[in-house]
Amino acid sequence: MKSFLLGTGNAHKAEEFKELFLDSLLINPAPSTLEVDESGKTFIENALLKAKAYFDTYKVASLADDSGLVVEALPEILGVQSARFAPELPSYTDKCKKLIEMLNLTQKERKAYFVCVLCFYLSPDEIYFFEGRVQGEIGQELKGEKGFGYDPIFIPERKEKDGKSLAELPEWKNEFSHR
Ligand code: IMP
Repeated sequence: MKSFLLGTGNAHKAEEFKELFLDSLLINPAPSTLEVDESGKTFIENALLKAKAYFDTYKVASLADDSGLVVEALPEILGVQSARFAPELPSYTDKCKKLIEMLNLTQKERKAYFVCVLCFYLSPDEIYFFEGRVQGEIGQELKGEKGFGYDPIFIPERKEKDGKSLAELPEWKNEFSHR
């Protein structure tokens, strides 16, 4: 089985990748987390910056992702900057609440999607990108205990119209998420 070093310091992402590639790839944690300056303007640029940094440091095939939440009514926030939204608020619970407040003020569309770009960096001559998305909307409150980040306020589009958030749907997330 092909093995990749996973270039992330995010334990939640690492857990999801381990599950996702269980039967297809060996995903090894990096010996230590690198501080990569996510200065790219797109998910692709940032995924490449991270995967390349791990490849350059450890000289083995590396995998990194860049992901985020895109809220259609608030295009100027989140997106590639999702991890850096409202830095004055240390917890994601507070960030989620702030986002709901901002959306309630706009009284507009609650449509949103998560996006994830994966970069498989095998060598400088062999680099692959994959992009995944999951469509949904921002809920009115935080719900669920699973997942991470903005999962408690994200209601994915599913055939069951029960309004469950991604944080209430770990199996569904594992099968259908952007990652
Ligand atoms: P980055 O890819 O390290 O820039 O971080 C992406 C940020 O987007 C995370 O820190 C979360 O805030 C958010 N995010 C990405 N994927 C997910 C997800 O699956 N659930 C919830 N939040 C996510």
